[in-house]
Amino acid sequence: SKQIELVSRPSGRPTRDNFALRTVKVGPIEEGEILVRNHWMSVDPYMRGRMKDTDSYVPPFQIDEPLEGGCIGEVIQSQHPDFQEGDTVLGNLGWREYWVSGGENVTKVDPELAPVQAYLGALGMTGMTAWVGLHRIAKLQKGQTVFVSAASGAVGSIVCQLAKAMGCRVIGSAGKSKKIDWLKAKTGIDAVINYKEVDDLSQALSEHAPDGVDVYFDNVGAEHLEAAIDNMNDNGVCVECGMIATYNATEAPSAPRNLFKVIAKRLRLEGFIVRDHMDAKDEFVSDISGLIQDDKVVWEETVTEGIENAPDAFMGLFDGDNLGKQLVKIN
Ligand code: NDP
Repeated sequence: SKQIELVSRPSGRPTRDNFALRTVKVGPIEEGEILVRNHWMSVDPYMRGRMKDTDSYVPPFQIDEPLEGGCIGEVIQSQHPDFQEGDTVLGNLGWREYWVSGGENVTKVDPELAPVQAYLGALGMTGMTAWVGLHRIAKLQKGQTVFVSAASGAVGSIVCQLAKAMGCRVIGSAGKSKKIDWLKAKTGIDAVINYKEVDDLSQALSEHAPDGVDVYFDNVGAEHLEAAIDNMNDNGVCVECGMIATYNATEAPSAPRNLFKVIAKRLRLEGFIVRDHMDAKDEFVSDISGLIQDDKVVWEETVTEGIENAPDAFMGLFDGDNLGKQLVKIN
C-alpha cells in the first residue's frame, strides 16, 4: 500500500521535501478488524498545525509516519460484526491507499444519498464547521450582516449560503477572479471583494457594509480580521474558525493592529473546534439536507488525482489553488 509520510517538519511554507511516498505491507486482518481501500481523502489547512512539534488540540504528526486525515473508502475484507465487504466508510486514516482498523472512529455512510466524497465536504466536518460557527458561536439572526473570508473555500462557501438562507446580508472575500465569479453566480451573496485587488480591505468592506458588520466568520486572520474589527457593529461577534494567513508564518503577524476596538465596540471574538460539537450532528445533517434538496446549498470540489500528488494538493491550499473543497482521488 502506498502512503505519504512526513519526513521533516516544514519551516514556513511546506515543500515537497517535507513528504515522501513510501510503500508498506498492510494486513492480513485478524478477528474484529476490517481492511479498507481508500477512494477519497481530504486535505485541510489545519494539518499544517499538526506538522509542528507542539502540543495543541490534536497531537502532532510523527516523522517517518504516514499523515492522517479524513477519508472515504470501501471495506474490502471484514472480520468485524458491524461491517461487511462493500460498505462505504468514513475514517480518519487518509494519506494512504489501504488501512486496517478495529472499527474505532469508523462510520458507515450511505452512498445512495450523495456522492460519497460529499461526506468529507458539505455533508461532513466541513459543512458542520460552517453550521456550528454560525449557529452555536455567532448565534446568527435573520437580517444580520455577515462578512466571510476565504468565502469560496470549502467552509466559507457553505457559510455564505447558510447565512443567505437565513435571510442575512452576506459579503464574501476571495483572492481569484474565478472565485469571485463563482460566488456571484452560484451563492447569491450580496457582495464580493477580491482582497488581492483592493488597496485597503477595511475601506472596501465599509463600502459594501455601510451599516456595519454583525458577524465576521474568520477563516483567514491577519489583515482580514483587522478589516473586520474596523467595521464591526457594537456587540458584534467574530467567529474564529481559522487563520490560514498565519499558518506558515515564521514571524509574528503584522495584523490585527486594532484589537483595542474590541473593548469600545464590546465585541466577542470566540474560537471553536468543530469536534467539540458532535452533539450537533443530527441537527446539522437535517438542516443541510433540506437546504441541498431546495438548491439553497451547492458546492464545488477541486479534485487532485493520485495519492502521490496529495502533498501538492495540500500545499495548493496556501496558494488558493482550490475552489470549494480540495479532495484527493486515490486511484
Ligand atoms: P479552504 O477551502 O478555504 O482553502 C483555503 C483557502 O484559504 C484558499 O483557497 C485561499 O483562498 C485562502 N487563503 C490561503 N492563504 C491565504 C492568505 N494568506 N490570505 C487569505 N486567504 C488565504 O479551506 P477550509 O475550508 O478547509 O478551511 C478554511 C478555514 O477553516 C481554515 O483556516 C481552517 O483551518 C479552518 N477550519 C477550522 C475548523 C475548526 O474546527 N475550527 C474546521 C475546519 C476548518 P483565496 O484564493 O480566496 O485566498
